[in-house]
Formats: sequence, C-alpha cells, structure tokens
Amino acid sequence: MKNNHKIIAANWKMNGSEELLKEFSQFVRAKHNDIIICPPFTLIDSAKAFLPSFIKIGAQNCSEEDKGPFTGEISASMLQEKNVSHVLIGHSERRILFKENDDVIFKKAEAAIKSKLTPIICIGETLSEKKSNETLKVLNYQINGSLAKINRCEKVIVAYEPVWAIGTGLTPDENEIKETHLYIKTKLDQHFNADTPILYGGSANAENCSHIISIENVGGLLVGGASLKTRDFTTICNC
Ligand code: PEP
Repeated sequence: MKNNHKIIAANWKMNGSEELLKEFSQFVRAKHNDIIICPPFTLIDSAKAFLPSFIKIGAQNCSEEDKGPFTGEISASMLQEKNVSHVLIGHSERRILFKENDDVIFKKAEAAIKSKLTPIICIGETLSEKKSNETLKVLNYQINGSLAKINRCEKVIVAYEPVWAIGTGLTPDENEIKETHLYIKTKLDQHFNADTPILYGGSANAENCSHIISIENVGGLLVGGASLKTRDFTTICNC
C-alpha cells in the first residue's frame, strides 16, 4: 500500500550540478509525496529554472543574523528573495564540523521563520551516545534547546538523523525508529499546536525507503547520498 502524502527531502550537501538538476527533472513526476530539493546555494536559481514547479527548493543552512559584517554567510531573508521555501537547520555536519549548538540552531530557526521559510531542524545521537544508551536523553536535550523555545503556532519540520547512520549504510532497526519517532512526536505534541512532520534521515535508499517510510510516526525521509543518483532518488520520491 502507498503511504499517502509524505515529505521527501534531498540534501545534496556540497555536491550536484545543473546537469543533475536537468536529469532529475526528466525523471520525476508529481505523485503523492511532497518533494524538497536542497542544493548548494549556488544552484538555487538553476533549481528554480530546471525543476518542475511542484518540487520545492530548500537551502542547507542560513545565518542567524539578517545582514551585516558576516563574511561568507547567507541570511534567511536572502533565501526568501530567491523563493526558497525550506531550510535545513542544525544538520549534524553543521553541529560537529561548524560547532553549531542548540542555541545557535534555535536562533537560525527563528531567523528562518521570520523570513517565512519552514525550518527542517535536524536532531540525532552520535554512535557513542547510542552505545551509552543516551539516545532519548540527547533527543530530549536537543528538542528542549532548539525547538521548545519556538512559538507553538509556528510550522516546523523535524528530521531525526542518527549521526552514526549518515553516509554509513547503517540504519536503526524498525523498533529503534519506532521508539525514537514516538518519543520525538510525544515531545513535539506537548509543545506545538499543529502536527509536526518527523522525517527519518540516515542511509535511506531506494531499497529501504518503502519500509522506513511505513513505520509509525515517520513523516518522510531526508536523503543524502541516494538523492544524487537520479533513478534511485526518483524511486524514493515515489515510495
Ligand atoms: C544526510 O546527511 O542528511 C543524510 C541523510 O545522508 P545519507 O542519506 O547519505 O546518510
């Protein structure tokens, strides 16, 4: 049975090209799922030009500041001018490599919301946290620090991405996904007025997507590596 109306988001990271956009636009068809492509900043205009209009465009990051002397940064209002609708916030690569903490992530989410973008806020435990049975404790901490301070009327998307599953070919088992998504949902339901979609991310691919997306409280997928392979990502978009 098809899963109705899920969100499939692609995180291209520092990859991709106009050719890939053109190729994907030839394969993809509007079906039941919402599709969001997050290319690097430099491909946002091309994504608008080459992708069909039912595909939404997201960015991979934004500054918490609106303008000023912040060399190399891009603000949420600049993204809004480019008709971007979504922005990834707090991806684990940003948390780990660029030392973004929950407070910065909260500020970035606020900046995105102020510019009418929907933030896709990423949370998830590292391997050592998982091994010490701290997964739910980490999720609790991250939700309290980055999400619970957002006004309860706002619309956000959360992506649960276990750091150890990103780019490794490993995924949590069904029970682990059930447990973490239920935990996140219960916490978010206590805070936000509307239902908050909770995406799963981490080594989702054309083979496992249908299974993962059918697990209770999984509202869609955030896909890295497999989103760069046109045929695989088309399969994922249709799952
Ligand atoms: C990601 O980095 O957001 C991600 C989900 O990557 P991958 O699908 O390659 O594990």
